[in-house]
Amino acid sequence: MWVVGTVRESQLALRKRLRDAERNLGVTRSILRSVLESVPDPVVVTDADGRVVDLNARARPLLSAHRHLGAHRRRAVELNRSAFAAALAQLDDRRRRELTLVDTRDGADVLFELLGIRGRAEPVTFTVAVLRDVTELRRAMRETEDNYLRLRQVEAQVRTERDRLEQLLREHVALEQASASKSQFLANLSHELRTPLNAILGYTSMLLGGVGGAVATAAQRRYLERVDASSRHLLSLIEDVLDFTRIEAGRMPMRLTEVSLPAVVRGLLAEVEPLVRRAGLTVVARVPRTLPALRTDRQKLRQILLNLLVNAVKFTPRGTVEVSASHIPAHDQICISVTDTGIGIADDQQAHVFESFRQVDSSPTRQRGGVGLGLAIARRLAEMLGGTLELSSKLGEGSTFTLTVPRRARARRTTRR
Ligand code: ADP
Repeated sequence: MWVVGTVRESQLALRKRLRDAERNLGVTRSILRSVLESVPDPVVVTDADGRVVDLNARARPLLSAHRHLGAHRRRAVELNRSAFAAALAQLDDRRRRELTLVDTRDGADVLFELLGIRGRAEPVTFTVAVLRDVTELRRAMRETEDNYLRLRQVEAQVRTERDRLEQLLREHVALEQASASKSQFLANLSHELRTPLNAILGYTSMLLGGVGGAVATAAQRRYLERVDASSRHLLSLIEDVLDFTRIEAGRMPMRLTEVSLPAVVRGLLAEVEPLVRRAGLTVVARVPRTLPALRTDRQKLRQILLNLLVNAVKFTPRGTVEVSASHIPAHDQICISVTDTGIGIADDQQAHVFESFRQVDSSPTRQRGGVGLGLAIARRLAEMLGGTLELSSKLGEGSTFTLTVPRRARARRTTRR
């Protein structure tokens, strides 16, 4: 009796311990379940052969093939499962691998990084696979890489552009130096040419004046006069080159004084009078006496207008040359125009006549002399006075050159080009 009672008691105790153990197991299982479900990434547990034995809610739309799935989604799950099994079998040393699965809810491709953790609970081995959605991360990485590449390209472009600018600057400096040497050379040359030419002019004038004996024949006098005229022409060309190089080198000084324009124009007309008479032209001056006094560089103003007048006479076979002036109160400027009824200048040539050494007719057979510097000098002188020199012309009808200068020029540094 005593023995039987003891055995029953120990059976009861064993059953109780068994029940307790089962209860504890149930609790542990449900804790594990809720841990599994609370993981924000899809988690899949597989057996040693890679068969799925458990998965959390996040993994279900990818790998769970329950009965109610349509054929399409079932097929997607099958494909996902084989992709998953293949990735699991090929895990690298870091136990990681990337794979693309289809989310069966919306059919979207999702790029995952699979992290596999192998575990052992005797007698079974298992793998816990955690899938991390890296679609956004990879996209951001690709974008960063693209941006980085673009940045490198822009950097390379900036470097090329900077090199090009540096090269241009070097070329510019070299050109400036070459231009300065050229100007210096021309200045020296002109100076050297002027000295013997002045001797030629001086001796010709002495011969014509009878110093050292009378000129014997009329023909000899005519020839001497031609030597004199040609030498004077040559001297004026050399003066042009000298002026041009002085302006280029920024060595043309400015002398501002009060200037009476009617007086300047009167003087100029008297100067070109012999030319005008020889050409059989009429010259008209319309310069109002009421014009306000100018403050400018008288010599430069004279040089510009003389050039315009001589050109007007030179390029007008018949008709009229007119000089007119007016005051523009709005800008306090003085406008002086030289208009002729001459050969005119074609539209496509008009911009070029202000370039140095440019002539509309530069053929060796041209009828009129000059080296094509007059207008280039005139425009630069106009700029030095703070003004402009513009042309309007019609081929065969005539030209108007208009000089516009401020009534009161301001002292400024000489321009250098
Ligand atoms: P140049 O001393 O050789 O005349 P310019 O610079 O004074 O040089 O003039 C340049 C060219 O412009 C001239 O050769 C001529 O072809 C043209 N030109 C200048 N003024 C006139 C004008 N009033 N009518 C027609 N052509 C002109």
